[in-house]
Amino acid sequence: MLSDYKIIITGGPTREWFDPVRYISNASSGKMGIALADESNKISKNTCFIHGPINEHLLAGKPYRCIKIESTNDLLEAVLAEIEDNSILIMCAAPADYTPVKKSDEKIKKQDENIFIEMTRTPDILKNVSQIREPRGLKNFFVIGFAAETSNIEEYALSKLKEKNLDMICLNDVLKEGAGFGCDTNIITVYTRGGLKIELPILTKDKAASEILKLVAQELER
Ligand code: C5P
Repeated sequence: MLSDYKIIITGGPTREWFDPVRYISNASSGKMGIALADESNKISKNTCFIHGPINEHLLAGKPYRCIKIESTNDLLEAVLAEIEDNSILIMCAAPADYTPVKKSDEKIKKQDENIFIEMTRTPDILKNVSQIREPRGLKNFFVIGFAAETSNIEEYALSKLKEKNLDMICLNDVLKEGAGFGCDTNIITVYTRGGLKIELPILTKDKAASEILKLVAQELER
């Protein structure tokens, strides 16, 4: 039963600093992650929300454990520290995929010419989790990924399900009206490892979160 599991949810963006006042990030608001954590907390008292920099007011008074991180690397460390037997990881965060190679200790001075910031790939958290799943011998461990796509959406979602060794993936077509960053509704299609495809209608993020958790519960009972 879902109530017997620790549920770990990640949400929001990450930040990659390149000098003391500037960073690379993205527009993720963290709202879908919070909706999942709220719904999860109704089911499992062992809910943990690992989040990047988001509006702190959105988290005021939340009864579950919140862990604040900043960079994609921090997120990786926090996730690896939290996963354990009998846990569910819902990777709803939008980690920055690149980080500046050099982080200047001083503010980079404005120049007349263009500047170039060399960036390197950040770790893929889900791939790292997949690699330690077997060696750590994790039992009853279930992983859900998210995909926000704008083209060839089903193809990308299915290849991510496989490549990242996921039990389930929630796809949202961010170009559809009512889906995507910052808004209060979402349009999600869920694909499972076993080949099921479930198309959810346009729903508030709270309702979408509740439907996703119902589908997770169904999968765990299979
Ligand atoms: O590869 P892409 O970023 O499109 O995949 C999205 C999924 O992968 C999301 O579940 C996201 O949280 C996760 N992700 C990750 N590590 C990254 C980037 C994304 O685990 N560095």
